[in-house]
Amino acid sequence: MIVGVPKETKTREYRVGLVPAGAHALVRDGHRVVVEAGAGLGAGIPDAEYAAAGAQLAPSAEAVWAEAELIVKVKEPIAAEYGRMRPGQILYTYLHLAAEPHLVDALLERKVTALAYETLQLADGSLPLLRPMSEVAGRMSIQVGAASLQKEHGGKGVLLGGVPGVRHGKVVVLGAGTVGANAIKMAVGLGADVTVLDVNLNRLAWIDDVFGGRVTTLYSDAHTVAAQLVDADLVVGAVLVTGARAPRLVTAEMVKRMSPGSVLVDVAVDQGGCFETTRPTTHDAPTFVLDGVVHYCVTNMPGAVARTSTFALTNATIGYARRLAAHGVAAAVRDDPALARAVNTAGGHLTYRAVADSLGRPC
Ligand code: NAD
Repeated sequence: MIVGVPKETKTREYRVGLVPAGAHALVRDGHRVVVEAGAGLGAGIPDAEYAAAGAQLAPSAEAVWAEAELIVKVKEPIAAEYGRMRPGQILYTYLHLAAEPHLVDALLERKVTALAYETLQLADGSLPLLRPMSEVAGRMSIQVGAASLQKEHGGKGVLLGGVPGVRHGKVVVLGAGTVGANAIKMAVGLGADVTVLDVNLNRLAWIDDVFGGRVTTLYSDAHTVAAQLVDADLVVGAVLVTGARAPRLVTAEMVKRMSPGSVLVDVAVDQGGCFETTRPTTHDAPTFVLDGVVHYCVTNMPGAVARTSTFALTNATIGYARRLAAHGVAAAVRDDPALARAVNTAGGHLTYRAVADSLGRPC
């Protein structure tokens, strides 16, 4: 098969859909890999590395789309790319189609088989192609939170690890899932005093085991959340109720009672956020101060560490890409129900129920 990797086109998207090791694996499998020149530069990958891995470099995005049978990307195509999609082409990328009716029209009109990273789901309900970005965002939450605690960023001037003779900073993590566990790992590593709250006692038991009592685990309810926030220096919002808006665990009143210069990092902002005071921010202006409390609410945190995010994402996507290239969509999804759940459009039809329902379209 001919596998194509165009450069990402969304504003400030620096990741790329395939790294040279992935290109090498596909070439070794007997495929031809065509990469748009400069596609990897945002992630620090020069063209020469793709060439050394056996890929061919194409001078333009048009050239990649015109040739490739399987397109491997990171983000959904933007309007300028719709005209490049060809009937029968396989598109493998994050799609978020429920929010993209025009893209749905283009995929159906052009009879593209589109597989969405975010709906590729294993039998246990987990989403293996979303997980790496939660790992990245969870780890980042502590590093951006620690920087925001510095005076020059509006913070109260607390060093999370403290120093001998001085109290450590207190970190409260709401949610002990992938984001939460990765935030905890970083906060513990920095020497902070860490407390985590969750409604899932199995997750709390796991955290307690893994961190050997180094982290305080508490059942999450409104009373306990309010009590923990009063003397917190950094609070990380990392809750998720699958398929629903994030629960608003922290009210504006609770934020008012926090000490000035405390920091909130709402990683769950992409699902509406778990602080009542949250509003989405960007990497250009990542924080705002409300009632003296610094809020960091960037919706695409992994974009700031494009290199790490690219490698983390492609580690998870490459196995499925190789199966798609080896067998074609029909055979690959027959053998793998997880991959079958990734198919959102095929042959001019919407095939993913939740997307169809949310757009009021047939499925
Ligand atoms: P996850 O499902 O692994 O974990 C969520 C946890 O929240 C679960 O352990 C769950 O039990 C817990 N939870 C649910 N209700 C709760 C409550 N009332 N109190 C306390 N805990 C509660 O999800 P995840 O992968 O860790 O993702 C967390 C959020 O981060 C999601 O909204 C995800 O979309 C978001 N995210 C954002 C970015 C970004 O750039 N901003 C990047 C990656 C992920």
